[in-house]
Amino acid sequence: MTIHEATSRAGWNFDNSYSRLPHMLFDEQEPNPVDDPRLVILNEPLAASLGLNAEALREEEGLEVLAGNRAPEGAEPIAQAYAGHQFGHFTMLGDGRALLLGEQIAPNGARYDIQLKGSGPTKYSRRGDGRAALGPMLREHIISEAMHALGIPTTRSLAVAATGDPVFRETVLPGAVLTRVAASHLRVGTFQYAANWGTAEDLYSLADYAIERHYPEIAGEDNRYLAFLRAVIARQASLIAKWQLVGFIHGVMNTDNMAISGETIDYGPCAFMDAYDPATVFSSIDANGRYAYGNQPYIGVWNLARLAESLLPILHEDQEKAVKLAEEELAAFTDLFHRSWLSGMRGKLGLFGEEEGDEALVKHLLDLMKKHAADYTNTFLALTFDKTEKGPLYEDEEFAAWREEWLARRGRQEQSDEDTLRLMRESNPAVIPRNHRVEEALDAAVKGDLGVMERLLRALADPYVHSAEQAEYASVPEACGPYRTFCGT
Ligand code: AMP
Ligand code: MG
Repeated sequence: MTIHEATSRAGWNFDNSYSRLPHMLFDEQEPNPVDDPRLVILNEPLAASLGLNAEALREEEGLEVLAGNRAPEGAEPIAQAYAGHQFGHFTMLGDGRALLLGEQIAPNGARYDIQLKGSGPTKYSRRGDGRAALGPMLREHIISEAMHALGIPTTRSLAVAATGDPVFRETVLPGAVLTRVAASHLRVGTFQYAANWGTAEDLYSLADYAIERHYPEIAGEDNRYLAFLRAVIARQASLIAKWQLVGFIHGVMNTDNMAISGETIDYGPCAFMDAYDPATVFSSIDANGRYAYGNQPYIGVWNLARLAESLLPILHEDQEKAVKLAEEELAAFTDLFHRSWLSGMRGKLGLFGEEEGDEALVKHLLDLMKKHAADYTNTFLALTFDKTEKGPLYEDEEFAAWREEWLARRGRQEQSDEDTLRLMRESNPAVIPRNHRVEEALDAAVKGDLGVMERLLRALADPYVHSAEQAEYASVPEACGPYRTFCGT
């Protein structure tokens, strides 16, 4: 079937700069048609910001694009090649179930990758079927949109379309395709791939491309590749600090799942922490807790060291000097992360300015939360709104003493209580996508009732308004055993 047909009524406006890179980085691949496409959810505000016409996307032609039955005009679909360290082991990967249609140039001139996820097999599929199930794709939709609303850089979800075809996992599940929007899909693993299997020229092309696309401000620097490494390190330090501040656990921080743009990418077995505990792990495949909440900053710098290794040949002609330069940059991560994190924590506690004892104050609170398995999000909400809560934390005299210390610290700042409340309200989300709420929404959606998910999405869309409707979503489930997430591939 010929797949390229005019669908410009939808507003597609593609460029395909990735296809102009060395060919070893990708493989041309048309989408694999599906049986009976049906639109499950369309992100209308995102469509509008991309210059896309939501109405046209909902029509048959538009839907055929979102399900992978035809490529829109101007698209040059490709599967991207990349490698990666998965749980520490290096391997060749690539888009095994995704296709980059092209880059949509939005009305404001910004460039966004438009990727179909679950669109069928590619050269890189290995033994996989190239498909995705509806539940996990809706899960990515909900969580990535929640992350965006929380102010955390992330890929986004334009739409989820059911395919009408079954996918075979432990059970038979309905299939779906998610349309993902990203600043780009360049990964640490893309550089690992070029460094391992490409020429120096391939690596230079890739690095120049990444700089032009994500870090144009450093293009003129003397050692632009070193500046590039520095810039990626800074963005990841800031990103991971933001994850820590909201209690987000990515779940599979493999190097192929770390984006060069600094966006959160590849929502698999991710989840938000309820009770505060740095050892929290949700993913059923992470038996050793490599990607536990408290490990995320360490894994972040480990992954960045893999990026640095890949860049060594172009950092300096003398490889010993290159290693030294890379090490200096990597050493900055810890401090960058720590500064972002502490500044965010000050916001969560309503602290203006900086005092020496601030970090100890934060850590003392976290220790108490851990001791009493207090809910991470709700403890900060209780402090924000000065709520009297029940629970062992609030009955602990040590917490009462901590509170006095905290109030004394606040008393030493000149800002009014109103200013403090404002800072805390905008630093502490009223609602996060709690696991039991996400599961409830997915269960209903897979059975055909989208109402539960739509209500959840509305509550998550503006987490800092603190509306009455959101309060319902703040409740913590009764203890029901450890929550487990699955890759859902
Ligand atoms: P992920 O865990 O989603 O980051 O995927 C890791 C790798 O496995 C990537 O190369 C994916 O493209 C590939 N992959 C995941 N699921 C499938 C599937 N159902 N069919 C083919 N490849 C897949
Ligand atoms: Mg991945």
